Amino acid sequence: MPLYEYRCETCGEKEEKLEGFSAPTEHACEHCGTAAGMKRQISRTAFNLAGGGWHAQGYSGPAPEKKEAAPAPSSAPKGGCAGGCACHSPAKDN
Ligand SMILES: [Zn+2]
Repeated sequence: MPLYEYRCETCGEKEEKLEGFSAPTEHACEHCGTAAGMKRQISRTAFNLAGGGWHAQGYSGPAPEKKEAAPAPSSAPKGGCAGGCACHSPAKDN
């Protein structure tokens, strides 16, 4: 069961609830009494468990490494032949 964070739009009171996926995304605020004042916020529980999450480590950091490694597999010989076979020979006289 996911942990949802609610925040009251009227008084700013915060609240965390363990609810099912089908639970309503808003309910009355017990702090100020506003009906449907408590709005469900995006849960950050998953990111907190991962120790900060991807957004804390810099999303654009390690991206260039993947671009450099990409051409390598395409230049390698395909299939089981080593290059001296018929399918790799550039000169075909007959
Ligand atoms: Zn409230």
